[in-house]
Amino acid sequence: MRVFASIGSSTAPLLLCLSALPAIAEDAPCTCPDMLDLASRNNQVKAAMQTYQEQLAAWTAAGGASGADEEGRTAFQLDIVEPSMVAAKDSRANTASAETKGDCRTTINAPTACLRVLMEQHEQVHRDACVVHTNEHVSVSDAIIPRWQTLADYAREEIEAYKSERTYIEAALSNLEHDCRYTLEFDSVIAGATESTRSDAKTKVDLEIHFPRGYTPTGFNGSHPLNYNTRDVGPPKLVGDPMLVKLAKPCYAASQGNGNVSFEVKNAWLMRERTPPYGPLLELPILVGDTQETRYLKGPRGCPRESEPRSFWTEQFKLGKRIEPAGSMDIRASAPSASDLAVIVDGWNFTGEDAAKTIETACLGFGGAETFSGFPGMPVGNAICEKTVLKFKKKR
Ligand SMILES: [Zn+2]
Repeated sequence: MRVFASIGSSTAPLLLCLSALPAIAEDAPCTCPDMLDLASRNNQVKAAMQTYQEQLAAWTAAGGASGADEEGRTAFQLDIVEPSMVAAKDSRANTASAETKGDCRTTINAPTACLRVLMEQHEQVHRDACVVHTNEHVSVSDAIIPRWQTLADYAREEIEAYKSERTYIEAALSNLEHDCRYTLEFDSVIAGATESTRSDAKTKVDLEIHFPRGYTPTGFNGSHPLNYNTRDVGPPKLVGDPMLVKLAKPCYAASQGNGNVSFEVKNAWLMRERTPPYGPLLELPILVGDTQETRYLKGPRGCPRESEPRSFWTEQFKLGKRIEPAGSMDIRASAPSASDLAVIVDGWNFTGEDAAKTIETACLGFGGAETFSGFPGMPVGNAICEKTVLKFKKKR
């Protein structure tokens, strides 16, 4: 918990509080959009460390590890360690690479400032080991003595490097936990393409993300009921000869109903583009319950009188959208079930740290117009039947 004590009586307690914060400065290189890269890298680092530990145990059981010449190290790295790290990576994450050569110089290839700092933590361990080794073998005859006698020596140095990286990642993630709190404002209007209905649905959801140690993080989560109001907007307006229009009172359909229904944001992630300029991206899965409306056939005498229950707003909202399981990262604890099927909202526009998205859907997109051709004068074609505005705002 970040606590800012009242400054009133004494400044001493405040100073104590500040010194207890993780040692990351104001201009921390890892910000909210780096969370997916960090979480993915954390999983990769854990996988690598586990693989090295398993290998060390296997070598101990076998009575020793083989030599650590460059060929042996490369094969070990490519055949044993890499596959476990590849399997642990989230497909949406950016990655970086780095190397510290025998002359103790480090080269880093990182797309973002955040990943560069992670590489720096890791390589610092190799660089320190390299410098110590070089200083111990200053004479010309000693200079070619390798730093690692066996692959076990090499693996132990790697474990230390990954440990250092992981310490930084976990401090950065717990900073983001405090810093990256958002509110989603959701405001949707859906009109019937083939019926005289207008539905308004609104909610406001607080979103938080947690990075519990030892668990796979699940992204942003939050829920708050969606309030909906679906109503009959009256008989359709007919076009044509005014006299005929006056006489013709059309039969029509309309859905009605109002109330609250569950609305949940599950496993939403901020992330970065995987090409320059590596700008922020948001993938926000929404799980929404079925609104409960009744669809009536209406009109003057002679019109059919029927009614049926339906879920007007939810049904229309889901049409034509990206529907996928709201899974946690790429490594899923269990197979996603049908109840995890969410509308995934992506393609947000960022302004600073906030993002917004407006979904406008043409009435034609709802389809089925031909089925209801018996109701003349209804809007078809290019009219907009859905306008949903989403605002993802950082709490300050
Ligand atoms: Zn390394």
